[in-house]
Amino acid sequence: VHPTAERRETVVLVDSDRTAYTDEAITAKFTYRGAAVTREGSAVRVTPTKEEFEFRTQRKVPKLGVMIIGLGGNNGSTFTATILANKHHVTWQTKEGLQVPDYVGSMLRASTVRMGTDPSTGKDFHLPVCDLLPMVHPNDIVVGGWDISGAPLDEAMRRAEVLPYDLQRQLTPLMASVRPLPSIYYPSFIAANQGARADNVIPGLGKKDHLAHIRKDIREFKAAHQLDQLIVFWSANTERYSAIIPGVNDTKEALLASIDASHPEVSPSTLFGVAAVLEGVPYINGAPQNTFVPGLIQLAEQRKAFIAGDDLKSGQTKMKSVLAEFLVNAGIKPLSIASYNHLGNNDGYNLSAEPQFKSKEISKSSVVDDMVAANHLLYKPAKEMAKETGDPKAKAEHPDHIIVIKYVPAVGDSKRALDEYYSRILMGGRSTISIINECEDSLLATPLILDLCLLAELLTRVQYRTAPTEDFQPLYAVLSLLSYMLKAPLVKPGTDVVNALSRQRAALEQFLKACLGLDNSSDLLLETRTW
Ligand code: NAD
Repeated sequence: VHPTAERRETVVLVDSDRTAYTDEAITAKFTYRGAAVTREGSAVRVTPTKEEFEFRTQRKVPKLGVMIIGLGGNNGSTFTATILANKHHVTWQTKEGLQVPDYVGSMLRASTVRMGTDPSTGKDFHLPVCDLLPMVHPNDIVVGGWDISGAPLDEAMRRAEVLPYDLQRQLTPLMASVRPLPSIYYPSFIAANQGARADNVIPGLGKKDHLAHIRKDIREFKAAHQLDQLIVFWSANTERYSAIIPGVNDTKEALLASIDASHPEVSPSTLFGVAAVLEGVPYINGAPQNTFVPGLIQLAEQRKAFIAGDDLKSGQTKMKSVLAEFLVNAGIKPLSIASYNHLGNNDGYNLSAEPQFKSKEISKSSVVDDMVAANHLLYKPAKEMAKETGDPKAKAEHPDHIIVIKYVPAVGDSKRALDEYYSRILMGGRSTISIINECEDSLLATPLILDLCLLAELLTRVQYRTAPTEDFQPLYAVLSLLSYMLKAPLVKPGTDVVNALSRQRAALEQFLKACLGLDNSSDLLLETRTW
């Protein structure tokens, strides 16, 4: 068994009077420290703040199902195949020899977190992230879902051309028994070129009936597999943006009324979101479109249901959220970032239509905004730009940022991404960094889908309170802690988006540790810097 797929029964026991264990739950007190900062002339006043939290994490790991919309796509079929190969220990031969299945690329299964030092050796002690708190093992996930293409999953896997032949050959009988449920198809939302796939659609009843149909599918899947918890995940084609129209989708009441009236601007992805929220199961959007119209966010808030999105941060954008942060934090000023991709899978085919490309372009565009806005020494804020240009509406200074995506059938799932970072360095000098990345897109995306589902499930078992007299309550509906895996993170309305990968990861690590009552100032390493 590959180490990333191993089954371990690790229990982290925190020796502290602030952390308590029962058979049911881990309860931990945590002091959240921040600072209130104001400028007073040439002085900057910093007032340390602190708030007491108590986190309670249910220890019993549920039987988990994942229902994927777009199950027969490259990601859906690769996700299913990966879980089945691991569950059934399917090994396969390539020219490099015998291969064993794994979960490489999963931040939870394949990366570690530094816990502290081992006093006997003085060396760092690292633990797999998935061992920090009780989490579902991916092999135990029951996978199902919907697709407008009725091909059983063995056919879908062959059509995807992602996995090696000998693995496909052995997985065929296992995959053949998985068949996508019929789905909702509103042709105006995805590219016209997808029409030929749509042979598995719920008949053209109104949107109200479609919603009821999907809700019933969710309930039946849960019952049929005796699941304790379910995640619904959008991995279907990228849709065009929905227009946000007052009275149509801007409030929860308007959205529900629009579904009753079959309003044309309610997209399939939003309808699935409403179904999941009404069934009380987390809903994650792995594609870039604006599924989470304000009405759907409001509905999730009201129902205290969990939602997360948008768009998987798999390759080029992940790299960008590292490189742009590195450059700006190094005091170097990116002047332009030019990103070019070509790919030949069905996702690329769908994105070759302008409205769907637009959704992807928007989702890829905002990824450096927070790093740029954080450095007013390199980038002039809006106020300064307004003064300089005389235009009161002038925007803050920003690097030129362009995104190109082309469909090249020959390369299949093996996406090519070329990026150029052109920056100003010392004394007006210039630096150019070029990056070429090539790999199977779905092999990067699948572990992200896995992490998103496992984390969302975990977060349904975490509750908090800020005073011992209060009842424990769930986290806020929008799970922004999942941002590490998402290209355009959805956050609590009115709060800042964090795109920088290291900050996203730090938030996640610190949160998991906080659930154990652990403070995370370990990188200070004061013992190595003092006498
Ligand atoms: P794909 O085209 O292979 O799969 C999409 C599947 O969705 C198809 O099987 C299609 O028939 C189905 N579908 C379309 N509309 C549907 C509907 N209304 N209901 C149910 N099924 C529907 O694409 P993919 O490569 O698997 O990617 C899936 C999504 O993930 C795309 O939107 C893509 O942009 C997004 N994404 C992928 C990556 C990656 O690295 N692969 C990264 C970020 C985002």
